[in-house]
Amino acid sequence: MISLSDAQARIFGDIKQSRVVEVPVADALGLVSANQVSSAVQIPPFNSVAMDGFALVAADSAGASSSTPVHVPVIETIAAGQTATRRLEPGEAMRIMTGAPLPDGADAVIMVELTEVSDVDGTETVAFHGAVEAGNHVRPAGSDVEPGDVVVSAGTVFNPSHIGLLTSVGVATVEVYARPRVGVISTGDELVRPPASLGPGQIYDSNRPMLVSLVEAAGCSAVDLGHVSDDEALVEAAYVAGVEECDVIISSGGVSMGDYDPVKAVLNRLGDLNWMQIAIKPAKPLSFGLLRDTPIFGLPGNPVSAAVSFELFARPSLRMMLGDSKPFRRVVSAIADEPMRRRADGKTHFVRAVASYQNDGAIHVRSAGAQGSHQLSALAASNALAVLPDGAQIAAGGRINVLLTSESAFSASFIVE
Ligand code: AMP
Ligand code: MG
Repeated sequence: MISLSDAQARIFGDIKQSRVVEVPVADALGLVSANQVSSAVQIPPFNSVAMDGFALVAADSAGASSSTPVHVPVIETIAAGQTATRRLEPGEAMRIMTGAPLPDGADAVIMVELTEVSDVDGTETVAFHGAVEAGNHVRPAGSDVEPGDVVVSAGTVFNPSHIGLLTSVGVATVEVYARPRVGVISTGDELVRPPASLGPGQIYDSNRPMLVSLVEAAGCSAVDLGHVSDDEALVEAAYVAGVEECDVIISSGGVSMGDYDPVKAVLNRLGDLNWMQIAIKPAKPLSFGLLRDTPIFGLPGNPVSAAVSFELFARPSLRMMLGDSKPFRRVVSAIADEPMRRRADGKTHFVRAVASYQNDGAIHVRSAGAQGSHQLSALAASNALAVLPDGAQIAAGGRINVLLTSESAFSASFIVE
């Protein structure tokens, strides 16, 4: 057996970042910026009005109150998207809407609630019922972004706000690391696809849709390469076609020690694969290597082993290909709400667990159920893998590291005010 860190080092050493491609900003969600992006413009592009009301020279409103209003004529109306036809002079007002540019000559806006409009000798006139300072309800040009400001640094994982910010400064496309195309193959004579009914000795091929979903959830494009039975020619054809079409192949089944398996025979003949026995439970066997320069992950067939193996080896590799500088899941120290015991077997155990952030400010963890490597029920109930080192006996209330496989641990269990 080799250690988990040795296995990870071997694999991650062979992983290369994807090529850089240009994509529309709107398609960049979850992808990683290959370079720094600076703004060519200032935002707002003009002194922008933040409130419906009247543009004025602030000094004109000095001393105004509801008992001593100041009256000035309204000379025009400016909606968002329009500009004033002339300069505003002292002693004048322009009706103005949120988002419109402040007219030249004006230095403030008084909100509509502090005004009253009337007709004075045929002239529309506004009464100011309060005094405002210069700059009132005005967003100065450049108060968000100035030309040359860095809006996104290299390595940023694009979130919706980045997409909004980039678009606000007029950027249409960005350079990112391409989403790897990841082929998923299931192997095994016993596998059947729902809704077909099960014959004697058959089970449903649950790994393939699960791995396709894990690949997509990791931010990559999954390519479903189907199911192949344990026939050497068919297995060979599946891998050969897969490496033509995909940047990575993830297969499940056929990597355990033991009898002849066509997966082993084919991969050994065509590629340069490492057959590892890793000191972890579940997911001890793993094959990894290159087939015509394409990384191949041969995951164990047991569904929980396949999922844990994906988490520990494939997912970080895919995130590295995507250019993510933090490719690993979050690991946090949690309080065990029940004893976590195990026997010593030289392996690190990954216990399917439920973690939740509690209002004592700590993350608490308990087992998600029966821990067999075929038992998808506990995996589905879990949001974390609790890490039990060899020989660990964690008592209730003791500390244990957990790897969070979802953010649901942080769903507030109390109301945030
Ligand atoms: P193997 O690694 O091929 O020896 O398979 C180990 C165990 O995992 C066996 O019980 C298989 O039936 C099961 N298994 C293999 N592939 C799948 C799959 N795609 N979906 C569900 N179970 C599988
Ligand atoms: Mg098999």
